[in-house]
Amino acid sequence: MLRNKPVPKRRWLDLAPGDPVVVTAGKDKGKTGEVLRTIPDQHKIVVKGVNLLKRHTKAGSSRAGVSVAQGGVVDFEAPLDYSNVMLVCPSCSRPTRAKHTILESGARVIVCRHCDEPYERVKKTEAQ
Ligand SMILES: [Zn+2]
Repeated sequence: MLRNKPVPKRRWLDLAPGDPVVVTAGKDKGKTGEVLRTIPDQHKIVVKGVNLLKRHTKAGSSRAGVSVAQGGVVDFEAPLDYSNVMLVCPSCSRPTRAKHTILESGARVIVCRHCDEPYERVKKTEAQ
């Protein structure tokens, strides 16, 4: 039994769903896409249209208690490691490593290293 087992650190991810990113490593290197979801616990990120895998399902088989009526090949996006993507700055449209800053108002923002423009997320308005 291993004592002092390292506890996975929950890192603050710079990226949030909806952010434009470019893939910097792997088979989809150079592709750009939109962040679909983040998995901070595993340090992974799912990008739209990137790292597509095919899942073969057999008709009538059941997965997690849900029976699949139609069989076939389903494309799905596999999670990428967070370090393999970079945020694309909307101001200078270059891939950037984000710099963290805390504004005078106390708000936590990320700043583009190239043009020093704070990256602002387009807030999705609820209840439309
Ligand atoms: Zn920039």
